[in-house]
Amino acid sequence: MKIKCPKCKEDAELTMDFSLVKCNSCDLEMSYGEYVKFIAHNETQYSDILGDYTGSTEGQSSGSLDEWD
Ligand SMILES: [Zn+2]
Repeated sequence: MKIKCPKCKEDAELTMDFSLVKCNSCDLEMSYGEYVKFIAHNETQYSDILGDYTGSTEGQSSGSLDEWD
């Protein structure tokens, strides 16, 4: 089935037995377990950044968030 590639945000393919995630756009290939960890890790980082950003915006340029798109 199609899922979102965590790396390039294009369509990646998850095999029917949920064992492997493959992306043809960026040649990503990882197990589904790794994929879940990857997503969880990224979302944790993202909310951390948002927390920092809303908690203390002093000295931060708004452009710094763009790197995480
Ligand atoms: Zn990809």
